[in-house]
Amino acid sequence: MDFIFFGMQGSGKGTLGKAVAERYGMQIFETGNELRKLSHEESELGQKVKSIVEAGNLVPNEVVMEIVENFMDSIDPNSPILFDGIPRKVTQAKNLNEVLDKHNREYKAVLLELSEESALKRLTTRRICKTCKAVYPATYTEENCKCGDTLTTRSDDNPEAIKTRLQAFQEETVPAIEMYKDKLITIDGEPSIEDVQTNTFEILDKIMLD
Ligand code: AMP
Repeated sequence: MDFIFFGMQGSGKGTLGKAVAERYGMQIFETGNELRKLSHEESELGQKVKSIVEAGNLVPNEVVMEIVENFMDSIDPNSPILFDGIPRKVTQAKNLNEVLDKHNREYKAVLLELSEESALKRLTTRRICKTCKAVYPATYTEENCKCGDTLTTRSDDNPEAIKTRLQAFQEETVPAIEMYKDKLITIDGEPSIEDVQTNTFEILDKIMLD
């Protein structure tokens, strides 16, 4: 069973996705990372993706789907996949579902739900390590990262940029999530990371371990 992970910025989706993938031996397709990898290539496509990502725009669907298909071809077909950061909009959801159907994959969508107010609070108070990119919530009061380096705020974690990202989620991603309503598992993202993880495992164990 594959999972398509949804959650607005600040919901803790990335952290939860990693824990889920580890528990069930899943391969993670992390869209932003895959695109960043491609943008380091000298090829024409690599350079095109680089300029789009640097401008903060969405990479065209055909390119993203090609990367998804290459990823699926590169892994053990029996290994479940956790999709993170895709789909971001309705047209991409349609394309992704076509690819999944073509490969006879079974899938469910998981939505980590959080209020916009909580997301704003988390995003404006979180800090990130300059070196290892670990993210720390406001409750982490040490000056330095566990790796020893300095913590800083992300340049796009200012209130204006955050509002723009949250608005894009509401306007473009929420309608895409709607398309999965028959396959959707909703998880409350408001509690602590530990509690969210425990609740998620309780729900997903029934699907993955039975
Ligand atoms: P992220 O790491 O999710 O913040 O994504 C970084 C950048 O990758 C975004 O600003 C987009 O340029 C691109 N990107 C990530 N996910 C997608 C997607 N599903 N479709 C198109 N472009 C994407």
